Formats: sequence, structure tokens, C-alpha cells
Amino acid sequence: RDLYGLDRWGNGYFDLNKEGEVTVKLRDQETGKEVPISLPKVIEGMTERGWAMPLNLRFRDLLDRRIEHLNGAFQKAIASAGYQGKYRGVYPIKVNQQQQVVEEISEFGKKFNYGLECGSKPELLAALAYQHNPDALIICNGYKDTEFIDLALRATQMGLHVILVLEMPSELPSIIDRSKALGIRPELGIRFRLSTKSEGHWADSGGDRSVFGLNTGQVIDTIDILKENDFLDTLKLFHFHQGSQLPNIRSIREAVSEASRVYVSLVQEGAPMGFLDLGGGLAVDYDGSSSSGPSSANYSLDEYAADLIETVQETCDQAQVAHPTIVTESGRAIVAYYSVLVFNILDVTTFHVPDAPESPSPDSHPMLLNIADVVARVSPQTLNECFNDSLFYRDKIRALFTLGTINLRDRALGEKLYWHIMTLIANHLREQDHIPEDLTQIDENLTDFYYANLSVFQSLPDAWAIGQLFPIMPLHRHHEEPTRPAIIADITCDCDGKIDKFIDRDSTRNHLPLHPFNPEEGKPYYLGAFLTGAYQETLGDLHNLLGDPNVVSVSIENGELSLTHEVEGDTVADVLTYVEYNPKDLEARFRRFAEASVKAGRITAAQRKETMQAFRETLNGYTYYED
Ligand code: PLP
Repeated sequence: RDLYGLDRWGNGYFDLNKEGEVTVKLRDQETGKEVPISLPKVIEGMTERGWAMPLNLRFRDLLDRRIEHLNGAFQKAIASAGYQGKYRGVYPIKVNQQQQVVEEISEFGKKFNYGLECGSKPELLAALAYQHNPDALIICNGYKDTEFIDLALRATQMGLHVILVLEMPSELPSIIDRSKALGIRPELGIRFRLSTKSEGHWADSGGDRSVFGLNTGQVIDTIDILKENDFLDTLKLFHFHQGSQLPNIRSIREAVSEASRVYVSLVQEGAPMGFLDLGGGLAVDYDGSSSSGPSSANYSLDEYAADLIETVQETCDQAQVAHPTIVTESGRAIVAYYSVLVFNILDVTTFHVPDAPESPSPDSHPMLLNIADVVARVSPQTLNECFNDSLFYRDKIRALFTLGTINLRDRALGEKLYWHIMTLIANHLREQDHIPEDLTQIDENLTDFYYANLSVFQSLPDAWAIGQLFPIMPLHRHHEEPTRPAIIADITCDCDGKIDKFIDRDSTRNHLPLHPFNPEEGKPYYLGAFLTGAYQETLGDLHNLLGDPNVVSVSIENGELSLTHEVEGDTVADVLTYVEYNPKDLEARFRRFAEASVKAGRITAAQRKETMQAFRETLNGYTYYED
């Protein structure tokens, strides 16, 4: 478990059982008792029901627990600091827009008056359909046209607590006009462009040159316009968002400190205010390193809440301004744990040749005989020399092949001998304390490719786009030593469709230790990519037309494993439709060709029938590899 850092990133939700399988601890929906569920057993259950890999597992209970933890942390911090305001979290729909997520957060979050944040018209509609608690907030960020503004105002009239946050100065005249036209007073917020910049992948959301929010001059102009129009009493909220996945608590504190200063200034300008919205950014420790690296966090949830409360309190007390209700828009920290992508390995390419290949016949080309001679010379004292010699002979053999001097069979034997020598050298290097510089790459070059039934572009887009790390590990066989160093290649046939950076204790490593796998043995080998609930599902794209995977919700009811809300992944027809093909037209075109093939005598009428059936089955089938 230490090898895969399970205890460092699992947050106590994931574990191993006696059978060496990964488990998830879920609370029984009826009794509240925690029950460990084996993920391979979930896969077994889904396979019995006819669902194929890859599969997205969703855990409603982990969503609930994250909401509880976040609210608990703020309540604790508020009580221990004697803070006079409240905490009101909102969930930013963009982080995972799935209906199940928004419904569950709205329902479970009721007891905490947990709200929603929306940044577009579709997200606003989702929020209005699911969030009817007048004590919870609906924060409207994003650029707003009059349709958006009208709907938000009408929702306010119906008693919902909607706050329209100004992203740019030009929104204000429209809001004032529509408010006067409909006779509905809005509640307004201002999004501010902080000068404090953070670190991490998404740092550009903050700082002077961030594309979002108003700068100080624009804030002052806004206040003046509000005063002129007698609308200052509608200004209730001040907001900033420094970026997602902020790994360093010190820059978070600095940003909150700057924001609190602006907040008190707005109160001093005469605005009623009352809400200070500190945005998202609460990081997830994906690599379990508890560091300020981009895939981690150098703070805990409790520390985050305590630091935010303390910083706001200090500034408000100094200025003798009432403590505001603190709002945060944590997305990633709420939903990351909710999903695990499980997938099977289809095949392996190994460069590791432990057994000596056949010897070349004595009349072979001298270069082939030379490389074969190196094998016997490999010893702890000759590693550098054998490495250089074999590399030289291998390149010569390749050049001789290109010139037509040796045949493909001899070239293949030369390369087999080369990989065997590399394997022998790597075995010796493992016993040595010092590795000569030229030889440091050998292990990496001997790493196997494990071909996984998934698309990195569809299911782990951030791993491809920005090199984000996700914990990945086998879901079973943890009693066996994982002896093969591997990188994971997906089935998109794109050289970027691979994962070759994995979490490690102190940094990253360029291979994942996996168990030997031989598809001919017929036993499946399953891996899981964890903490994939935030952003991955909807950011994913249709590269190579591999579509959405199948989905199932996993829970415990009355002590029994319950698999519900199965959602069929995209069919081949679905993905073709997305790129403007018409499946009926495709079939008709192919049928015409099949008929012509019968007429031309290339196939029989019976073969045409079989071929058309295969075409239709593929059209209606899953886009991934099926057994
Ligand atoms: N709020 C706003 C305005 C955002 O743009 C985002 C995403 O970057 C979030 C909240 C969510 O951030 P996070 O998922 O880091 O909590």
C-alpha cells in the first residue's frame, strides 16, 4: 500500500482487504455504519449485469462526507475563533455538472444551507431546478446577458437567494435596467481582480493580469454608479477567485488578507455587504506529498478553514466592521473523491528479456556474432563497456539491414540480444550503490507498456493537457509483488495517449510497478485511477471517437451492496452523431456497397447479411474494446 501511497492520498476512504483488493469505505444509507466494499467485487457485479470496461464508479456517500467535512471544519474554526459571522459554502457546478452530483449536493447539503455557484445559462437552469432552499445561496458568476439577468431576478422574486456577481463593468447598466423594468431589486456582488497571485497549474485566474473581475478603479466606478442610481443598498457580496488547486496556504492567506481589506473598504463606502466570497482553490492532495507541489496541498482542511476565518476576523476587527458570512466555492475538494475510473489491461509490450535468446549461427554476419559475444562478458565490472559495445553493434546491425546486407530475421535476433544485455545490466545495477551516468536511463528504457482499455483524452484529460497527477494502482493482487515497471498506454493510437508520470513519496516517478500480465492466461487485470471526480468527466474529448465510459453509482443499503443509476456510455452511433454523421445514412451507404459486392461476386448474399449484422452491432455497441 505504501508503494502506491494509498494512505497518503486516500483520506481514509480507500483501503486494502485481506484478499489484497482495494476497498472503498462507504456508510450504509440506512444504518450509517461504515462498510468496506471491494472494488473488484463491484466490477464482478457489473460484469454479471453485462457492463463492459472502462467503468466510472461514483460514490454518493463520499460526496456527502466531503460536504460534512468542509462544513464541520468551518464550524469548528468559527467556534474556536469566536467569529461572529457564519459559513455558507456553494458548490461550483462547472467542476462536475452531472445531474446526480447537483441533485445530491442540493439535497444532502440542505442541513448546511449549502448552495450552488453557476457561471452560464445552462448552469443557472440546473441551479434553479435543484436548489430551492431560501437560506442557501445561488451565486451567479460568468458573463450575463439579459436572458440570464431576467431569470435570476425572477428567481429572487420567488424567494431564492440569488446573487448576481459583476464580472465586468458593462454588466451593471443591464442589471439596473432589467431590475427597473421588472420591478425586482437584485442582490449584487462584485468579483475583484486581486493583485496577489498564487502558484500551481491555475494561477492565472488571479493577479493583476487575470482575465476575470474588476480592478480597483472599476470597483470605485461601480460604487459611484450604484450610488447615482440609488442601488448601493443592493451590493451584498465581494468575491475573488485566485485559481483552482492552490497548493500553498501562505498565498491563500495573502489573497484573503487583500480581499478582506477591500471588503471593509466597501462597507466603509456605505454598501450593506454581509458576504465575503473567497472563491475556490481548496486543493486536493492527489499525490499524497502534503507539499506545495502542483498536485498537492501543504495544508489540511481544518487549517484552511481556521486560516480563512482568522484572517478575515483580524482585518474586520481592526476596521471595526461586522464579521461577514464567509462563502467559499470549493469544487475540487468536494467532488474529487466521488469518482474512480476502473479499467482493464488488454496487453503488454515488454523490453525485458531475462532468458538468453538463441545464439546466431557461426556463419552469421560478424556484427551479429559480436553482439552475441557481449552477453557472456556482462559482469559488475564491465557494465559500461558492455552497454557501449552492445549499443554500437545494434546500430551497426540496423544500418546493415537498411543497406540490404542482413535480413529482417537477423536484425530481430540482434535486437533481442541487445535487450537481453540491457536486462542483464539492469539486474546488476540494482545491486550497486552508484550508477554510472550513462546507465541511468536503462531502467526507464526497460519499462513495459501496459495497454489499457481507456482513452486518456476522454477520461483523464488533465493528465494529458497539464500533466496533472492522479493516483493509479492495481485493484487486486496486492499479496503479490508487482515486479514489472510499467507505463500505461491507452487505446487511442496517439503517442500522447499515455501516462508516464506517477505519484511517489517525495516526487514523481516515470513508471508504475505492476503485476506481470499475460492476456493468454485469460485472467483480467484491473487498475483504478482515483480522485477523478473533478473536471475530468466533462472536460474529456472525443479523440479517436472514444466516447463516455459506462457509469454506475455504488452504495450500501441495509448492509447490501447496491449498484444503481447505471448510465450507458456512448455507443459508436452516439459519437458518430456528435461529429455530424447520420448512423442511418452510414448504414445505407455501406449496404449499397455490400449489395454491389454481391453483384460483383466478391461476397455471397449470406455473407452480405452477416456483414450488415456486424456493422449494425458495432454501430450500437460500446466504443471501447469489448471481449
Ligand atoms: N469558483 C470559480 C469562479 C471558478 O472559476 C472555479 C474553478 O476554477 C471554482 C470556483 C472552483 O475551484 P476549485 O475546484 O479549485 O475549488
